[in-house]
Amino acid sequence: MMGANREVDVAIVGAGFSGLYMLHKLRQQGLSAVVFERGNGVGGTWFWNRYPGARCDVESQDYSYSFSPELEQEWEWTERYPAQPEILGYLNHVADRFDLRRSIELDTEVTAATFDEEANRWSVTTGLGETLRAKYVVMATGCLSNGRVPDFDGMDSFAGEVYHTGSWPQEGVDFTGKRVGVIGTGSSGIQAIPEIAAQSEHLTVFQRTPSFSVPARNAPLDPQFLQEVKADYPRRREVARRSPTGLPFLGNQALAMDVTEEERRDTYESLWGAGGFRIGGAFADLIVNQEANDTLAAFIHSKIDEVVEDPSIAEKLKPRDYPVSTKRICVDSNYYATFNRKNVRLVDVRESPIVGFDERGLKTQAAEYEFDAVVFATGFDAMTGALLGPEINGVNGVALRDHWDAGPRTYLGLSTVGFPNLFIVAGPGSPSVLTNMVSAIEQHVEWISDHLAHVEELGLSRSEATLEAEDGWVEQVNGIADMTLFSNANSWYLGANVPGKPRVFMPYAGGFGAYRETCDAVAADGYRGFVLS
Ligand code: NAP
Repeated sequence: MMGANREVDVAIVGAGFSGLYMLHKLRQQGLSAVVFERGNGVGGTWFWNRYPGARCDVESQDYSYSFSPELEQEWEWTERYPAQPEILGYLNHVADRFDLRRSIELDTEVTAATFDEEANRWSVTTGLGETLRAKYVVMATGCLSNGRVPDFDGMDSFAGEVYHTGSWPQEGVDFTGKRVGVIGTGSSGIQAIPEIAAQSEHLTVFQRTPSFSVPARNAPLDPQFLQEVKADYPRRREVARRSPTGLPFLGNQALAMDVTEEERRDTYESLWGAGGFRIGGAFADLIVNQEANDTLAAFIHSKIDEVVEDPSIAEKLKPRDYPVSTKRICVDSNYYATFNRKNVRLVDVRESPIVGFDERGLKTQAAEYEFDAVVFATGFDAMTGALLGPEINGVNGVALRDHWDAGPRTYLGLSTVGFPNLFIVAGPGSPSVLTNMVSAIEQHVEWISDHLAHVEELGLSRSEATLEAEDGWVEQVNGIADMTLFSNANSWYLGANVPGKPRVFMPYAGGFGAYRETCDAVAADGYRGFVLS
């Protein structure tokens, strides 16, 4: 337990992929660190998101740490796309293998962090009412950690079970014989819906915005393939480090509008057949040219028509009002086919919005629905939610919430003005959610640990981004986003899913490889844009 006057070099918030590696890295360089984790286990996203069908949309061999060749060789992934229990098992293995648990405090939520300018130390307060002093704070809190349940009228009166995909009960849920409603058709809903449909007596899906979804074509991993990957890991990881996505391949440089309709269709067919979201990178102009994007949208619409038997349902499932990839492409197993089942009904809540709940279920403007259970697959207060949850006060007592009043502002997604010695892993303004998260996390953790080593070697006590550097970075992030179609969708990338949240495109869309080069250049230039004192 924490002593009243305990002091460490680094307080890390969160024990997911980021926090675990951050702890390991800092220990290796001789700094003392403690991790605070609100869950009662490690794993972050993969600890909380246990809904039926929860599975990563990045392939197993690439959704893994690269920092330890031994770990790479000893861990055996079993499926093309790892299911939640397997990833959670992997992260628990990492925690044991690198002896991390003795520095992780579970069931401990950080509620506040206050910077003491005289001492250049942070006071970190937990929900247990204890305070710890730390020279540095690393927010390893994840991009999709704060689940959102819309505020429907009468929700408290509903007598049935209520779940959110992002905080699923550890013991699981048995829907056998139950009438279930699922609200939301993003990545989580699309994975859960086929599983719940197969188990429940009846499922009603409430869709506000249809998603573009591509088949995962998940399958057991061929041991021979895994052996080849393991033998090739150094090269594979190197390509991933330089690629725009943090994945071990470079996107196609050809333009959709430069090839014939037939060639385009062949390309899309082959990627649809291969499965997974690589179809989103089929051509280099898809994310910047509406006409090009329309060709992929039309292709996916045609696939929905092929699968869904009832043309009026197929029509409802087709996204029409935003470009492909401007909301995260979903990767599914049997999603569209689920709407051919007799026990599944699709309700378009654009046509008839949900007006509220009562004891038996929910009402739309057109009808009433009775349920034994309702599942909210309604997403997250993404990218900033977990950072703005605790009361973080920096220089002059300024609150992070106030500094980010008009939207998040960072330098490199790593640091924000007025909050010295506080670093963010995969923060807004970094490529994070537009890449393979594990690659993005490793790059940030390594950059932060190098930076702290630099500050320590110089015997200094404070590192803070300058306003000029932050302004420049914010401008660059916005400028790149403006060159794309991203702002044409009401996505969580823009905070558009949370009423009242400032509409700002939060991730850096310039590509992971280019971003890494920028971070490396900043470091090589004596940490340009930071004042070290
Ligand atoms: P999401 O993409 O934000 O989807 C939330 C869904 O709930 C949307 O369909 C949204 O409709 C709907 N919704 C929200 N409020 C509503 C309301 N008041 N009434 C009706 N519908 C409402 O959230 P998510 O599915 O949890 O996914 C979030 C992100 O997590 C993904 O984009 C992905 O990055 C990650 N994720 C990844 C995987 C994977 O690796 N396979 C799986 C799950 C999640 P609108 O679109 O109209 O707002």
